[in-house]
Amino acid sequence: MKIAFIGLGNMGGGMAANLVRAGHEVRAFDLAEAALAHARDQGCAAFATAREAVAGVDAVVSMLPNGRIVSAVYGEEVIGHAPKGALLIDCSTIDVATAREVAQKAQDAGYRMVDAPVSGGIAAAAGGTLTFMVGGSDANFAEAEAILGKMGKAVIHAGGSGAGQAAKACNNMLLGIHMIGTCEAFALAGRLGLGPQTFYDIASVSSGQCWSMTSYCPLPGVGPQSPADRGYEGGFAAALMLKDLKLAMEAAASAGSKVPMGERATELYQAFADAGNGGVDFSAITKTL
Ligand code: NAD
Repeated sequence: MKIAFIGLGNMGGGMAANLVRAGHEVRAFDLAEAALAHARDQGCAAFATAREAVAGVDAVVSMLPNGRIVSAVYGEEVIGHAPKGALLIDCSTIDVATAREVAQKAQDAGYRMVDAPVSGGIAAAAGGTLTFMVGGSDANFAEAEAILGKMGKAVIHAGGSGAGQAAKACNNMLLGIHMIGTCEAFALAGRLGLGPQTFYDIASVSSGQCWSMTSYCPLPGVGPQSPADRGYEGGFAAALMLKDLKLAMEAAASAGSKVPMGERATELYQAFADAGNGGVDFSAITKTL
């Protein structure tokens, strides 16, 4: 299959390489020359513009920073330039409203589109073990699944257009909340005289157990290896957690949903990022609690 890949940064670079490995002809475009050069090294064909990359393709995959950029790239570079009928798959994390708008525009112009944001970080993107949550029609999902399955371990149909982004926003709001909760519980346990290992041994097999504790423990030397064991480097940046929490707050406001814990988590991650910690792993928020 001929696939255009737009946005080959930390995540997209590894994802595109997995499409090449699966035997697809991948036509890459990124504004950053270094990202494009890396894509070329991975076996992609590099193009000077997105318009050139999407010429003659069966599908387009994008992994871009935000909704404004996704809207501009599809509106100006993909729609009207990729062949009509091509399958468009946006894997970026963006707001639900923009995802729906872009998909509607694409459909009106004769394309098929799904939103397919991911769970999993840079290592999962490189290793082909991402989870994709997909919004779109049954038919479009079935076709997208064949491509996404080459880049991930799970591809789940969340519902109609925008449902993938809705799932991502809710999942990451919950992640932010239980990470802070886990950090708070360890801090309080410590003040009450329980060592971190003792509290972990108890809570990890009790009702307080959660992913932030048993898969991504925010304290070094406790639980499986996690960014805490590497000085909070190389995981999921606090700035990206804050981005996702803000998207969740936007979605909550538009749906009229009360999310007091999500709001508080957003405030805490905002303060953490404002203090210069946007680039460290999000579990490092434990240092402030
Ligand atoms: P990144 O900044 O490393 O990569 C984005 C790439 O897009 C860059 O190479 C940039 O040059 C390129 N780009 C920007 N504007 C462009 C344009 N107009 N045309 C072509 N290329 C353009 O970011 P990332 O970490 O790869 O994240 C990408 C998306 O994945 C984001 O939406 C992010 O929220 C989401 N995400 C990231 C992670 C993570 O752990 N990094 C995890 C899950 C989801």
